[in-house]
Amino acid sequence: MPSIQSRLESVRQQIQQAEQKYHRDAGTVQLLAVSKTRPVEDILQAVEAGQHRFGESYIQEALDKIEQLGNLALEWHFIGRIQGNKTRAIAENFDWVHSIDSAKQLRRLNDQRPGSLAPLKICLQIKIDEEESKAGIRPDEARELVKAMHHYPRLSLQGLMTLPAPSEQFDAQRKPFRQLRELRDELASAELPLTMLSMGMTDDLEAAVAEGSTMVRIGTAIFGPRHYPDQS
Ligand SMILES: *Cc1c(COP(=O)(O)O)cnc(C)c1O
Repeated sequence: MPSIQSRLESVRQQIQQAEQKYHRDAGTVQLLAVSKTRPVEDILQAVEAGQHRFGESYIQEALDKIEQLGNLALEWHFIGRIQGNKTRAIAENFDWVHSIDSAKQLRRLNDQRPGSLAPLKICLQIKIDEEESKAGIRPDEARELVKAMHHYPRLSLQGLMTLPAPSEQFDAQRKPFRQLRELRDELASAELPLTMLSMGMTDDLEAAVAEGSTMVRIGTAIFGPRHYPDQS
């Protein structure tokens, strides 16, 4: 299998080529390396290859890695389902959260974010395709949450995130990303420009960049296929 370094290099090239093709300014699409289920050794290889921004989905696994790698200046993004009893661990250990999907999570994370740390950067996770029973809030609920953000001074709303149902077709892949961008355009204001569009994974990176992604979340293309540990 190719090394993590060479895989990372080809993902960077893919991003650059997509930026050019879709007339995006060079360097406007950031790369989040999704390291869930990967050992610390894999993360270290990516760090050596110049990657410093990592995404995790499972809180206990993430806390172990953050502790082991605490001497490195890495940026940690929580991208998984947020369970109510885990908000404190997230508020105390992460720089970003992409997967906010309720007002309750906003309240808890705001109350639990330590004063010694910068405000927690967040995205609201939006459920674009209604028929999917996936995580995320509906666009109309997002409108209400954005209006209420001034109640949460320990949180800094950066933008929106989505995780659409997988699709093979390029045009079908673009559609939910376009809808997310349009929702962002509608909700953005001078106080909250919502510049972050967290969208695109290994199989739909190009479609996401075409529609304005500012951060792609890439796991498989960097680290290879995931092997989930036996849950039993
Ligand atoms: C696992 C995961 C990714 C990465 O997916 P790949 O297909 O491996 O690139 C991106 N975003 C979220 C929210 C994930 O859970």
